[in-house]
Amino acid sequence: MRVLLILLDGVGLGADSPHTNPLAVAPMPAVRGVLEGNRLLADSAGFRGRRASLAGLDATLGVPGIPQSGTAHATLLTGQDAVRRFGRHYGPWVPTALRPTVVRDNVLARARARGRSVAFANAYPEELAQMVAGGLDNVSGRRLGPLRSGPPLAAIGAGALHRHTTELARGEAVASEITNDGWITRLRRAGLPRVSPEEAGRNLAAIAGDNDLTLFAHYTTDHVGHRGTFQDALAAIQRVDRFIAGILGAIPGDTLILVVSDHGNLEDVTRGHTSNQAMGFAVGPGHATVADGLRDLRDVAEAVLGVVG
Ligand SMILES: [Zn+2]
Repeated sequence: MRVLLILLDGVGLGADSPHTNPLAVAPMPAVRGVLEGNRLLADSAGFRGRRASLAGLDATLGVPGIPQSGTAHATLLTGQDAVRRFGRHYGPWVPTALRPTVVRDNVLARARARGRSVAFANAYPEELAQMVAGGLDNVSGRRLGPLRSGPPLAAIGAGALHRHTTELARGEAVASEITNDGWITRLRRAGLPRVSPEEAGRNLAAIAGDNDLTLFAHYTTDHVGHRGTFQDALAAIQRVDRFIAGILGAIPGDTLILVVSDHGNLEDVTRGHTSNQAMGFAVGPGHATVADGLRDLRDVAEAVLGVVG
């Protein structure tokens, strides 16, 4: 069976608080449709429906402090307790000491070693990817910029960091922000088409249909949790919901969609990262079995490999 693994950064399951938690009030017709009216809130963790399940993932792993993206991504992508190995929660980038582990032992590389076809659907600028073209010796240091994040490091290890401007123009890649607007304005790729979130979702579903395991990562949900207003957070969530609607409408029937987060943030706009459980949302064949096996960040990689075979 196929898996589409989506990492939504900074989405925890929080309280039903309409003034501080945008997930309490966002309409989210696509997500709430498959969750049979339930919202992405702590009270709904444990829901098992006909088409989808919701689980809460402990992101603290019993270590004091507030969960951070670097060690959380490393844990999600490898199944190893990267927080304890590093000694503390660390972010936003994967710490240099853990990068070889993420490159070598991540879920994409392991599935590929088992003969499965894997894809990293995010588009990255070709000039960034060229920095690691010489090999994995170059994964330390600060000059890697956004490649220091867990998902591109995993893609490097799996030989799957090869979707750039050309692929994005053809709809054979998805921008990390879902729509292409940032590529067109900030990266000055004026020739790229504008895509709606739904169209980006359909593009991702097509990539997922061509591979046994596909990874896509989205960070805006965390960025708005840090720097945005309640309205910015609402807009980010609506964009994700429209993206998921596009995916649901086009995903092959043999594909499990697993949407996970690394830590809480957006579910409480009064502060930064939280210790709330991170979202674990499964849709499609085997969703309940997979959700039953998700208790904390360490469980995701094994759950994915269990489905991919
Ligand atoms: Zn994060």
